[in-house]
This record gives sequence, structure tokens and C-alpha cells, in this order.
Amino acid sequence: MTHPFLDLPPLTAAHFAAIERRVASLLATEQDVVVMQGEALLPLEGCIRGGARPGSTALNVVTGPYGQTFGDWLRDCGAEVVDLTVPFHAAVTAEQVAEALAERPEIDFVSLVHAEAATGNTNPVAEIGEAVRAHGALFMLDAVASVGAEPLLPDAWGVDLCVIGAQKAMGGPAGVSAVSVSERAWERFAANPAAPRRSYLSLLDWKERWIDAGRTALPHAPAQLEMLALEACVERIENEGPAAVMARHTAAAAATRAGAVALGGGLEPYVHEARDAAPVATTLRAPAGVDATALVAHARAAQPSLPLIAGGGALSKEMIRVNHYGADATRGAVLSSLAALGAALADAGRQVDLEAARKAVGETWPSA
Ligand SMILES: *Cc1c(COP(=O)(O)O)cnc(C)c1O
Repeated sequence: MTHPFLDLPPLTAAHFAAIERRVASLLATEQDVVVMQGEALLPLEGCIRGGARPGSTALNVVTGPYGQTFGDWLRDCGAEVVDLTVPFHAAVTAEQVAEALAERPEIDFVSLVHAEAATGNTNPVAEIGEAVRAHGALFMLDAVASVGAEPLLPDAWGVDLCVIGAQKAMGGPAGVSAVSVSERAWERFAANPAAPRRSYLSLLDWKERWIDAGRTALPHAPAQLEMLALEACVERIENEGPAAVMARHTAAAAATRAGAVALGGGLEPYVHEARDAAPVATTLRAPAGVDATALVAHARAAQPSLPLIAGGGALSKEMIRVNHYGADATRGAVLSSLAALGAALADAGRQVDLEAARKAVGETWPSA
């Protein structure tokens, strides 16, 4: 008997190239797209190690934990790093970015996270892109948590390196990622003696051995299951329609926010302004005196499949994340998550109004 995913015919170079084109079309990009066999941190690190070098000055926008990681990699490459850190409950503004660029004309690299699943904010990339383009720096965007959840237009926004992963709003696997690379970015990598070469982190290897070689022979054995899963999740988005998928995420975020406020019990949206809140996931501030990690553990005890998690690291005491993305971008997942949080808060002695929460969700996200 053949096994449904062990006994597959080899993935051909043509099929791999077709998957790349499909991802490019999802991103509406004319640039080269490299699909990478690893989680999104692989192309992110590859982009930074290719784009930064001793003598570079990088503006690193920190709106969550990933920005902190990028700063560490940039410093490790010998770049001088200007960190523009904004509180995790807000978004960065294009004015803040433009000011930081004006103060340091030598900045030649900008790293930015579009949406932060870990802190629940989203940044205005279109406007920031204008400021970066006017300055002339190379622009890297981590769009892992925004792709599929909100509009993402790397070419229109002047993004040189746009990194995506499949496992958030795309509803795909974690082991595959992709990056669109502009002509300018290829030139920067090629001119950087320290850019990874003959390395798993190397984007230049993919350019030389795959793209410039006519995409006829794959440089490595393809990670076939991940590639097929990536293709399947892009196909599913195409079938539902990207606009409908994004609308589901936007509605899930708005309903979670409204529902949490109506639930009460001291729960508050973590991101102050609704316009700064990411469609991919909603973060909530635990009531004073209630530990977020304990609350989430209690809420999930009855229903371990709920998309609830406490904040990471220093945020573990105060932040609750509702990861309403992918298959969980549904009214049902939002309602169950709020109901479970409400029950846990009630057990902690807080007064909650579950009926009001249900009503708020229904009004924010009416059923079709
Ligand atoms: C989830 C996430 C990542 C990490 O993706 P992996 O595939 O787990 O490496 C990177 N950046 C952002 C903004 C994310 O939300």
C-alpha cells in the first residue's frame, strides 16, 4: 500500500518554480521570489547577513520581540545599529521613521516588522516605505504575520526584501518560507564580501544556482512535503479569495477587541488604538492582580485547542494573545476564546458579562 505522503513522486524543478510563481502572484510582486526550506527566521537572517556589513548603518524599528532579534543580528554583522523602539502597545509612525533617517543620513538599511503576532500591533508600511525610498536605504520587511491577514504590496511600497512564512494567516506549515528580492537587494548582496555564500543562509546561492541558471535544477533535494503544503495553502487562499481571507482576519480582530471590552472583568485591549491593532492576532492586558499565564492555562484546561497563549518572555504575566489566524479566523473561535477567558476570570473572582461579549461579537461580526 502506498502511503499518502511518504510514497510521493519526486518534486520536479518545474513544480518548484511553479510554486514560486504562485507565491509571487499572492504578493503581487514582479521581483524574484525565493522559496526557502525552513521557518521564516532562515530568510530573515539571510537577508540581514547579506545586506549588512561592517561600515553599514542600519535603522532597526523595534515594535516587538522580532525587532530585537534583528538588532542583534545586525550588530553581529558589524553594522552600526540605530534602534527606533516604540512601546509595544502602539505602532511606529512614518514621521518617526523619517526623523530617524534625517538624523543619520548614512543609514543604508532599514528593518521593520509589518504586523507583530507577538504584541498585536501593525505598522503603516506604505507610508514608511515612502520615507525609506526618499532616503534611499535598502528596506527589509518581516511580513510573516501580515501575509494573508491584511494587504501586503511589497512592490508598490518599495520593499526590497519581503519575508513571509506560511504558518500564520496563510494557515500553512511552519517549515517553509519565502522572500521577494529586488534588483537593488541582489546588487547589495553581491557587493558584500561578508554575505553568506555556500551556506544554508545564502540567498546568493539561490540566485546563482537556481535563478540565474534558468530554474532548471534544484540546488538541494526539495523539502517536498513543505512545498506541497505551501502550494496547497496558497491554492486555498486563491479559492476563497485573498480579500475574503483578509476580511475574516480583520473581522476576527475587531470582534475579539469589542468582545473583550464588553466581557469586562478588567480585561483590556493591549494595543491602545484600534487602528494600530493587527488583524492576525489580538493581544489583551490581563486585569491587575491576575497572572496572564495562569489565566490562559486555566482557560485552556477544558479546551486545549483554543487559540489562546500568554505573552512571551517579559510579557508572560500581563499579556494574553488570541491567535485568531488561519483556520482560527472564525467567529466560533473568537466566541469560544472569549467564553473560556470569561469563565477563567469568573473563577478568579472577577465579574464578567458573557452575554454582553457575545452580543458585541455578533454586532461587530454579523453572521452572513
Ligand atoms: C511568527 C513570526 C516569525 C517567525 O516565524 P518562524 O517561521 O516561526 O520563524 C517572524 N516574524 C513575525 C512577525 C512573526 O509573527
